[in-house]
Amino acid sequence: MCGTCNGDATGAAPPAANSTTDNAAPSASTSNGVYPAQGNPASSPYQSVQDYISNVGRFKIIESTLREGEQFANAFFDIDTKIKIAKALDNFGVDYIELTSPVASQASYDDCKAICQLGLKAKILTHVRCNMEDAKKAVECGVDGVDLVIGTSSFLREYSHGKSMDMIRSIALEVIDYVKSKGVEVRFSSEDSFRSNLVDILHLYQACDKAGVDRVGVADTVGGATPRMVYDLIRTLRGCVGCDIETHFHDDTGCAVANAHSALEAGATHVDTSVLGIGERNGITPLGALMARMVVTAPDYVKSKYNLKALKSLETLVADAVQVNIPFNNPVTGFCAGIHAKAILANPSTYEIIDPHDFGMTRYVSINSRITGWNAVKARIEQLGLGSEFSDDQVKEVYGSPLFSAVFHYTGDIDTMRRTAKIKQMADIRPLAIDDTDSIIRSYHLDLKV
Ligand SMILES: [Zn+2]
Repeated sequence: MCGTCNGDATGAAPPAANSTTDNAAPSASTSNGVYPAQGNPASSPYQSVQDYISNVGRFKIIESTLREGEQFANAFFDIDTKIKIAKALDNFGVDYIELTSPVASQASYDDCKAICQLGLKAKILTHVRCNMEDAKKAVECGVDGVDLVIGTSSFLREYSHGKSMDMIRSIALEVIDYVKSKGVEVRFSSEDSFRSNLVDILHLYQACDKAGVDRVGVADTVGGATPRMVYDLIRTLRGCVGCDIETHFHDDTGCAVANAHSALEAGATHVDTSVLGIGERNGITPLGALMARMVVTAPDYVKSKYNLKALKSLETLVADAVQVNIPFNNPVTGFCAGIHAKAILANPSTYEIIDPHDFGMTRYVSINSRITGWNAVKARIEQLGLGSEFSDDQVKEVYGSPLFSAVFHYTGDIDTMRRTAKIKQMADIRPLAIDDTDSIIRSYHLDLKV
């Protein structure tokens, strides 16, 4: 929707042709991306906060499809499916794969062990309650790291485990000490962090940091935080601890991606994701949507680190496993067609912030709309491999032909329409499939040849 990107489209004057740019390319050694992926604009309204605490160009992903995602209503992953998903995540390049607690069931225990033995590049974590028995079971499975969690909000302390902050602190330190003694990475996270007492959790995290925890975790368990709340909390925490900061955002109010970005700007180091965002209720920060956000913020980092071209197959794998469709408005892999055909075809940056080719996708300009111009029809003719056989006048003729224009006002079957002479009288609108318009193009093409 951005009308202000500086592209180099014919007719649109870019800022001074000879302007040598100071911000020509983000250096690999700096953390922050500076502008959108396409078009090399001399300036961008999308610059990220670039102060010294920002980690937008050096974050890590903790992929939780096999933990948070297992809490999704439709999820039932058998071991074969878990292994397929784990391998696909590893191929995508996520830094960590988080698994359901081995304490949850015998199958969870066995699956955790089996995935640890796959020899993946990604580190394997498991997410357990903060107590000694759970931690021991986790270490026993051979994981690279243990993610400890305990509720710290007044709601959870009162209605769930009933422990005081002092009790939580002493248990946490004991368990952290044990996990570290086994040479295993350890994270300590509060649950429902944004509804916990700030002073309480800062003290708790400071104590964990002193005890040598690798990461502390902040979780918006109920999905109620806003980017500004996130920035404030993480920025404050960044000033209190030296260890890494992991973040976990639920999407109940639609802020999960924005909150993750804001957390990185404030100095968080790790973001929890799941494929398509699947998880408890409407889930957490989706991996694909986060990639879409971060490839614009930090293109060099994201494109060099993650195998973006594997996103579509990864999403398809998980969508099939939980029997859902990829949402039509999913970033990058959803039905991302537009009708600004002329400008898109002349210079994609005019209406696109993301280059679909970075994700192994091709551009599709919708021609199935009665408000689409002939340029879109021309692009489709080229996609069909017929570009060399149509002159512009012929493309316009196809576009303007009674047959073509009639399909936008027709409610019946396309073959019947071809046979009938009354097509202009059919006034109702029906949505067209791409097959319909392809059929018209091909039919016109056949006529050209006779
Ligand atoms: Zn969660």
